[in-house]
This record gives sequence, C-alpha cells and structure tokens, in this order.
Amino acid sequence: MLPALSRLRFPLIRICGIVPRKKKHTITMADRFFPNEMPDFVAEKAAEEEEAAAGDSLGKLLSMPYPLLSERLKRAALDLKETIVLETWGMTGQRVRDFTLYCGTLGTAFLLFRSYQITKNINDLALCSQIIKTCDFASNSSRDVTFICGRAGVCALGAVVAKHADDADSLNYYLNQFQRIKLSRNLPDELLYGRVGYLWACLFLNKHLGENIVPSSSMREVVSEIIKNGRSLARRGSSPLMFDWYGEKYWGAAHGLAGIMHVLMDMDLKADEVEDVKGTLRYMIKNRFPSGNYPATEEDRSRDILVHWCHGAPGIALTLVKAAKVFRDKEFLQAAADAAEVVWKQGLLKRVGICHGISGNAYVFLSLYRVTGNPEYLYRAKAFACFLLDRGHQLMAKGQMHRGDRPYSLFEGIGGMAYLFLDMEEPLGAHFPAYEL
Ligand SMILES: [Zn+2]
Repeated sequence: MLPALSRLRFPLIRICGIVPRKKKHTITMADRFFPNEMPDFVAEKAAEEEEAAAGDSLGKLLSMPYPLLSERLKRAALDLKETIVLETWGMTGQRVRDFTLYCGTLGTAFLLFRSYQITKNINDLALCSQIIKTCDFASNSSRDVTFICGRAGVCALGAVVAKHADDADSLNYYLNQFQRIKLSRNLPDELLYGRVGYLWACLFLNKHLGENIVPSSSMREVVSEIIKNGRSLARRGSSPLMFDWYGEKYWGAAHGLAGIMHVLMDMDLKADEVEDVKGTLRYMIKNRFPSGNYPATEEDRSRDILVHWCHGAPGIALTLVKAAKVFRDKEFLQAAADAAEVVWKQGLLKRVGICHGISGNAYVFLSLYRVTGNPEYLYRAKAFACFLLDRGHQLMAKGQMHRGDRPYSLFEGIGGMAYLFLDMEEPLGAHFPAYEL
C-alpha cells in the first residue's frame, strides 16, 4: 500500500516536469525555453558611462556596474518578499495548509531568514520565527522526514533561527524535536522524501550550530543503509550505485543519483564508498546525451528534454561542482562546465522557480563562479537574473512564462526569484537554497 502522502508525492513528479511518455511526440525541447539571445559576455561599464549607455533595458542591465545592479536586484527582492509574505501569511489568516519548504509556508520563512542574513533586519527574523512556530504545529504529526518536504526542515530551521534570535528555550525545543524524528525502514533514499533529505537537515544544523550538533556517528547508520541500497540495485558493468523512487531510477537532484551523491559527498565515507560515489558520477558523465544534457531516468535515454534542477543538467552540474571541490578532480569540473553550457543555451526556461525554472538554473553559474572565480560565470548568473528582473513580470502576466502552480512558493514560484535576487548581493556566498550548504 502506498503511504498516505502519496497524493502529494505523485503530483511532484508531474510538476517537476517529467513528460508522460505517450506525449513525447508533441513536446520538444524548444517549447520549454526561450532562445537565449543575450551576448555570451558583456563587460560592465564604469558608473559615469552607465547613464549614457545605448540599447534596450535588458542590455543596459547587463552592462551596469555590479554594485548598482545588485542594489536594484535587492530592492526588487525586498518588494517580492513583501508580496510573498502578504500572500502566503497575511492573506491566509496566518494559517498553514502546506507546511513544507518546497511549496508551502516554510519556504516563506526560509526566504525571510535569507533576507535577515543580507539586510540584518530583525523584523524579518521575528516574523520568520513566528511562521516556523505555526509550521511546527502543522507538521507535528507528519511522517515526512526531510528538510525540503518534511518535519526535519521545520525543526532544523527553527533551531537555527532560534540561535540567531538568542532564544535558548526555542533552540532546545527544536533540537529536541529534531532528535525525535524517526526514519522508517521503507523510506526511499532520494532528497525530497528520503534518507539524504534527512541527512541534509543534519548538515544544515552542523553548519549553523556547530560540527557535532549531529555527530557523524549517528549519521553513519543512515549512510550505510543508503550505500547498501545503492549497491543492491546496481547492475554489473553499470553504475556502482543505483536507486529507485516509485519504480523509476532517477538521475536528477530532486529524486535521483545527483541529489544522493551530492549529500553523500558531505559524509564521512569509507574508501570503497568514495570510489562508488566517484564511479557513479563518472557513469553519468559517460552516459550523458550528445548535447551535454543528462537523462531524467536510467531507463529513458531517448528524450533529451529537461534542463531543470530537479531533472537534467542543472542539478547534476551542482553535484559535479561539488565533486570537483571535494575530490580535487578536473574531470568533474570540466563536466560541470559542459553542463553549464547546456544551461546557458537551453536553460532560460519558460518557468520562474528554482526547481524547474530560470531562477534555479542561474545557480549553476553562481556555483561555478564560486569555485573558479571566472567572471564569465558571474555574468551568466547575472544575465539570467536580469532577464527575470527585466521581463519576468510581463512574461508571467501575458502567460508566456509559468508562475508555478503555487506562485508564491520558494521552489516553484516567485519565492525562488526573490531568493536569487537576494543572493546576487553576495555572489560568492550564494548557494542553491536547501541544497548547496
Ligand atoms: Zn522541478
């Protein structure tokens, strides 16, 4: 029998852009993205040249001195934040229907926390605490255990925000609640609902509160289970690790190999486990599409369509950037750069969010900028953000860009755009929300 939350889980496959196979003849890649007509690189003008610059409004944004642009993006982000708070909190009578970070109210709290980190506005932190408290109540009986879609996200974010607010009682409460989370034996391994989604919450706590808040010994049991499952589903001569979720062997960040390898790389692995992680990534690189994009699943190698964080090159690129850093291996960095080329050409999606939209795809360039320092990657991140700033609202108003089934949410809606705009303030400190630590 399927778990009670399957009603929520199956639609996620749909909203994450998996196209039903019977419709494949009617949907092409070109239907999914805007042709990227922006120049491959534009140098920034000096402040005094900026006002006299010719060209359309997008062209002017692309050549604007970075401090001016990031200020403009921040102002837009703070306006978006007000709208998002109003729509997801004020207008709902402060009731929580969906508590999750993915498409629910915790996503608003996560955005407020980022806003507080950037602006130091304590009102954002206070409202964030209040929202988490209501999410805590709403998620109390949830059996979902991950950061993005489960109880661990509420407790971990609650603890970190309590620490920033110097609220020791709440800090203890949320840490205590986190320790009560139980992982069932039939849990999947993937990021949105599975074991690595729980481990990510442990890493988030350790990053913000101290290395041993969740000791690696207590994560070890979960890691061993994941490795055991991955090896048992792998076939000889194929990937050393393989996983499935509801019968599909996904490759992407949300449900598949990329998300699982991404989190495993932050764990204390044994030497043979490290080799399996490297081997799995090399298997994916070797079997990517000729275009440089990646299949959504192990079985479906013929449809080169999805260029999303959830499925396809963007989510896998973030994992490859991390592999390059962790393993100090240029092969992974080159593969990440190849994937970023796909995102540049085919990732200007007709959707706004971070899961399967332009906002999320911009983080591929930010991630590569962080590890390489190459200004061309910062330009490309800036170009995707500028495209949204200049044209996003108009395209959404005309119905030419999808604003998401939950239009104010963090992962699908304008919440992700607001988060990206805030992150452009400190591009070297930018991280894909709830995925890059
Ligand atoms: Zn998605």
